[in-house]
Amino acid sequence: MRILLTNDDGIHAPGLEVLEAIARQFSDDIWVCAPDEEQSGMGHALTLTRPVRLRKHGDRRFSVTGTPTDAVTMGLRKVIDSPPDVILSGVNRGANLADDITYSGTVSAAIEGALAGVRSIALSQVYSKEGMGEDGPFAPAIEWGAKVLAPLLDTPLPKRTLVNVNFPPVPPSDVKGIRAVRQGFHDYSRGTVVEGRDPRGFQYYWFGLEAIEHTLDHGTDLEAIDEGYISVTPLQLDLTHHASLGALADRYEG
Ligand code: MN
Repeated sequence: MRILLTNDDGIHAPGLEVLEAIARQFSDDIWVCAPDEEQSGMGHALTLTRPVRLRKHGDRRFSVTGTPTDAVTMGLRKVIDSPPDVILSGVNRGANLADDITYSGTVSAAIEGALAGVRSIALSQVYSKEGMGEDGPFAPAIEWGAKVLAPLLDTPLPKRTLVNVNFPPVPPSDVKGIRAVRQGFHDYSRGTVVEGRDPRGFQYYWFGLEAIEHTLDHGTDLEAIDEGYISVTPLQLDLTHHASLGALADRYEG
């Protein structure tokens, strides 16, 4: 099985090492093509206004001066000579739950993989404010990663779908299990806008993510993580709200 690894935290991110250790439990045919720098929050951006550069770091290990989508595109078209069986994106440093998904470079790399017809899975480790002590922030992903992935590697997935996995911020022994759940939603607009002045006296603004509120609706990824479960959410690329189609079509008729 050939596996392509990528992420949005950059090729030197600790979470990519975690992902590689997980992937090696399934295959030795592992390729890495990741952004050269952190690209969190870049969503599904594709670089169009400047060239991208491909750098070789070692055997089957490359970085791209661009976004996660650029990295997957280069991985599929220029780095690997035949399509991989699986694309894994992550393990992201921090949650990609509910409405995080469309901002997420981690999930968007998997979206790019799904568009290319490759089985694609995004993995994220939710961080706790208190930290995880001796276990380290990625301990749940390290301990549970292979167990979560195994069914995702051979369960049939329809075309233009992908899977989003999040690990809860608790010690691995406290993880209660794995739940297949739907995407939840945040109640309010995202986070805070911090104002400050730069060294030259000009005002700047900086977005923070601490103050996001959310509803722990039953059966959602947010609820699963809150209760100490690993969340597994299948996603589809068709964003059409089918229930509204008929009503809108009626307005344009006659
Ligand atoms: Mn990230």
